[in-house]
Amino acid sequence: AGAVIGSALFERRVWCRYLCPIGGMNGLYAKLSLTEIRASKGVCDSECNTYHCYKGGPAEGQGQATNGCPLHSHPASLKDNRDCVLCMTCLKACPHESVQLNLRAPGVDFGYPFLFPVPGTSSAPQHQPSAHEVALLFLLMGANLCHHIPDVLRQVGWDADSISLALQDKGSHIALSLAALAAPGVIIFLFDSLMQLFHKLLYPSSLIPRKFIDISYAYLPLVWLG
Ligand code: SF4
Ligand code: SF4
Repeated sequence: AGAVIGSALFERRVWCRYLCPIGGMNGLYAKLSLTEIRASKGVCDSECNTYHCYKGGPAEGQGQATNGCPLHSHPASLKDNRDCVLCMTCLKACPHESVQLNLRAPGVDFGYPFLFPVPGTSSAPQHQPSAHEVALLFLLMGANLCHHIPDVLRQVGWDADSISLALQDKGSHIALSLAALAAPGVIIFLFDSLMQLFHKLLYPSSLIPRKFIDISYAYLPLVWLG
């Protein structure tokens, strides 16, 4: 219903981009993608005044007629893959062949080295970390944990009868699910706060460790695999 109302009232997939958790999850995982659509800033700045990739318009030069980017993104300004669904509309629309589909190392949006360090290469993070994205990341980690509640209870010594009783009772099932949803984020946040505190006390003059919101993205491949 939200998607229908959002599409009726607003254009450019407002619901999917800003409100829907599935859209948020897809945007998060897209940052790990092996492919990206990007345009050459030099060509866009020097040769284009129509912006067909973004606004849409009739066929022109090498470009076809389109309605423009469905997400209101410009392929030369994309900092990461979150706001691109690889629909190729901009690639078809561009009259100057500025847009390219590139292969890339997974996680390059987060800067090198991330997953597969390549000797002699390094790059700064491109993406914009955000608190709501990190909250969603830990919620997804918690959702993975929810699927393994019986295994976790077994590991901490519960017998089969107690587990099935706890899961059959609505109240304790909800309590266990909420605890599993919150546990990864809370535990990792507390652990990080403790490490920051130790670092401040033991090495007051050394470099300040990276912020929790930045390093949290390192858990993204784990969440994706889960
Ligand atoms: S990608 Fe193509 S249509 Fe879009 S601004 Fe650049 S040159 Fe113009
Ligand atoms: S591939 Fe599609 S979503 Fe991505 S920038 Fe181009 S038009 Fe927009």
